[in-house]
Amino acid sequence: MLTILSARASTLAAIDGYCERAKYALSEHNYVAGESFKYLGKELRLKLLQGKNSVAADGVYLYLAVPDVENAGNKARQIALWYDQQCRTLFPQLIEELYPVFRKYGVPSPGLILRDMSSRWGSCQPNRNMITLNKKLIEAPRNCIEYVVMHEFLHFLHRNHSKKFYDLLSTLMPDWRERKNVLETATTQWQMLVKKKTVIGHRMFKN
Ligand SMILES: [Zn+2]
Repeated sequence: MLTILSARASTLAAIDGYCERAKYALSEHNYVAGESFKYLGKELRLKLLQGKNSVAADGVYLYLAVPDVENAGNKARQIALWYDQQCRTLFPQLIEELYPVFRKYGVPSPGLILRDMSSRWGSCQPNRNMITLNKKLIEAPRNCIEYVVMHEFLHFLHRNHSKKFYDLLSTLMPDWRERKNVLETATTQWQMLVKKKTVIGHRMFKN
């Protein structure tokens, strides 16, 4: 069973010296009917309902029920909680699916930390036996998230982005480049970041 840890980004920033978290704002939403929300590579349209706080999705719509449809703060909170829950369900599942590949290499079953990060999709701390994944990944297609999990797992075996790292990555996931390309254009925020930083592909996975 996977351990999921939540940590305040600011606390962890102090630990690993990471200090670029304010490069851009997270998705801006007004939480009005018809607005588009990204989820696993799809655009869900917001349907607002009045009722007890609840959020559900069916692949086309994101249904948000709230007692007061004018209360933007509560709408934002309910949707954030829902995204969080999706990360907590899917990300450990992907780790468990890929882990058997790495168990063969003697890699211990890692713990998972979920964070909001502004310029990394994920990171790996082999010494702490931890993989950290960016919550924003929930906006990207599932196979792209899988690629990030694979990438971070590989750092248990190769700390740097050496030739050996990429050779093994290509063996285990031959289409990793396609997944990476899709990932880098999957969300508007990330797109903006890619335009600003030509070396972003490397920076994203700098550990
Ligand atoms: Zn890396």
